[in-house]
Amino acid sequence: MPELPEVETTVRGLVPVLEGRRLVRVEAKRADLRRAFPPDLRQRLTGAIVTGLGRRAKYGLIDTDRGDTMIFHLGMSGRWRIDPAELGAHDHLLLETDAGCVLALNDPRRFGSVDLVRTDGLAAYPPFVAMGPEPPGEGFTADTLLAALDGRSAPIKALLLDQRIVAGLGNIYVCEALHLAKIAPGRAAGRISRDRLERLVAAIRAVLLAAIEAGGSSLRDYARPSGELGYFSKQWRVYGREGEACGCGAPIRRRNDSGRSTFFCPRCQRS
Ligand SMILES: [Zn+2]
Repeated sequence: MPELPEVETTVRGLVPVLEGRRLVRVEAKRADLRRAFPPDLRQRLTGAIVTGLGRRAKYGLIDTDRGDTMIFHLGMSGRWRIDPAELGAHDHLLLETDAGCVLALNDPRRFGSVDLVRTDGLAAYPPFVAMGPEPPGEGFTADTLLAALDGRSAPIKALLLDQRIVAGLGNIYVCEALHLAKIAPGRAAGRISRDRLERLVAAIRAVLLAAIEAGGSSLRDYARPSGELGYFSKQWRVYGREGEACGCGAPIRRRNDSGRSTFFCPRCQRS
């Protein structure tokens, strides 16, 4: 499942083929993904020039010179394919640029989404309204986190997954960051000291940036035709490693927290 680093890597991979290019063809091969494509998608995007790309949480943003922003979410299995050798059954949306490059949004499970909003109204896009700060951004600090967690008795892990507290963090990166910061996933969030939150903020940044970097280096492999953006293999500290030894020697454990697996080291993350 694509998380923030995959989306960031995808956006960076789209920049060289989309930025400054005019869209000469916009074609939806079906009516919907998780929900319907905007009915006027083709009309509003065909002929538009892409002026910039960006990311907010796990959403990719494609701005145009017409004042519209296309917002895509990759859901569980979405990816963009660049100049695919041939189109498949799961290539649901095609964009073609004036340079002759074809981009296909491929999504076998169709949990992804595509929306089109006015760029100056992006902040009012419902998923963005109450969204917390970007974890790689400057707005995410020990102080903002301290304020957001103040008085909360819920486990730190659950609150880090809450998009209102910090944007775009998924289960894998939360497990990894808590391990790096040596904080127990079940620790009451409001009772973690500022010093430890400082470590946690640094750990969240570190795991995300390492993954973005890993994705960036795998991007070079995508220079070939039919490249697929957004997925790369990573080495996890604890995630998916139940029973293996942590760096400290203790076996990594897995626990089920309301349907999600939590991986942690019982020795490094005691409190
Ligand atoms: Zn350990």
